[in-house]
Amino acid sequence: MTGDRAGDYRILHEAALRDYLASVADLKALLGGGPAAWGVTEVGDGNLNLVFIVKGARGGVAVKQALPYVRLVGESWPLPLSRAHYEYLALARQAQLAPGLVPALLHHNETLALTVMELLEPHIIMRKGMVAATQYPHFVDDITTFMARTLFFTSDLALSAAEKKEAIAAFAGNHALCKITEDLIFTDPYRIAEQNRWTAPYLDGLAASLRDDMELHVAISRLKLKFMAGPEALLHGDLHTGSIMVTDSQTRVIDPEFAFYGPMGFDVGAVLANLLMAYFASAGHERTPGERQAFEGWVLEAVEKVWSEFARKFVDLWRAGAAGDAYPASLFAGDKGAARLETERQAYTQRLFTDTIGFAAAKTIRRIFGLAHNIDFELIEDPRKRAISEARAVRLARAMMVEAAAFRTISDVTGAARKLRDWPPELTS
Ligand code: ADP
Ligand code: MG
Repeated sequence: MTGDRAGDYRILHEAALRDYLASVADLKALLGGGPAAWGVTEVGDGNLNLVFIVKGARGGVAVKQALPYVRLVGESWPLPLSRAHYEYLALARQAQLAPGLVPALLHHNETLALTVMELLEPHIIMRKGMVAATQYPHFVDDITTFMARTLFFTSDLALSAAEKKEAIAAFAGNHALCKITEDLIFTDPYRIAEQNRWTAPYLDGLAASLRDDMELHVAISRLKLKFMAGPEALLHGDLHTGSIMVTDSQTRVIDPEFAFYGPMGFDVGAVLANLLMAYFASAGHERTPGERQAFEGWVLEAVEKVWSEFARKFVDLWRAGAAGDAYPASLFAGDKGAARLETERQAYTQRLFTDTIGFAAAKTIRRIFGLAHNIDFELIEDPRKRAISEARAVRLARAMMVEAAAFRTISDVTGAARKLRDWPPELTS
């Protein structure tokens, strides 16, 4: 059951949270010592939920509880508690498919919309590290393994038709979270909407041009349709660098509450978009020329490798054994069949690339004109500098959306990004 039994739900603040955790024997033992001595700190810096870090004499845990409304906005924007259940389902599936790349699940209470998981420490949110120009040498390998495995093994290439449809159904109830994406990413930035904001006045003209750009409106609407009508695989659904926690040597993907069956390019595009935004933001942060060059070089290399390694791993999984009902082996028998299927894999990957580029562009534009911005840009204090970085990112994003044919390979994307590095945009006033 995924229904919200609102009657039994209550927000667990400090003392209540302590009592609750103490009532679950495994958690009490894991934390160790007396509950009164446990340290409880609220660390939620996200937009939607409460997150507590609880530390006992022996160990620590992270506790995430959904609120019946959007935290960023308040009680005026209700949101179903059932999202915690979908997050839990997704986390469990990801743990099976990509072991070691998500926090371990320790406990879930559907009625309380509460999940207890492994405390990630000393991991930090990757976006914060990138604002400090930190490079993460294991990131590309880890995130591409995560995406290739979670996307491939939940797709029709790996599942029977019946399994796939059951899996779609298991997440279909998470439509309120999908609707947030449909509105905030695929609609609002292109029209007047109360929640929109941008770096005014400098981007006023650009914001107005987006609202008047019919080619862009067609492109974003095609992407929206793909998002709504393309249940290819189980998506994380919000795979930005604020949903990734890292150390020098480890990568963990958190926060899959937007999970549902959608188009694979949406997850891959989210990762690329957030790297590209970190690249464009770099010019606005206090960095020596050497730091800037090193960081930007690393980011663009990461953009290229995220795509190429993802595609390579995905196709390798397909070659190694595709048990799904798509592309029946009986239709591709013998050398002739094998050769033709191999060409088809390249065509499949090329189509996925085109989707990815479009979704990456959509993800970029929403962070600059929509409700939820990111610290890559927001922490650039001088609004004029921020607007310049943002305008460069938007220029690339618009091209990726409406001139998709010009982006056949990932080097077309990084090449275009490099050309925009010092581009002087026209700002309002
Ligand atoms: P939201 O859904 O509200 O965005 P997140 O799942 O992104 O919530 O968590 C909010 C913050 O809590 C993260 O940015 C991170 O700092 C912290 N956090 C979340 N999960 C963990 C964890 N397992 N270990 C340590 N910190 C965590
Ligand atoms: Mg989050």
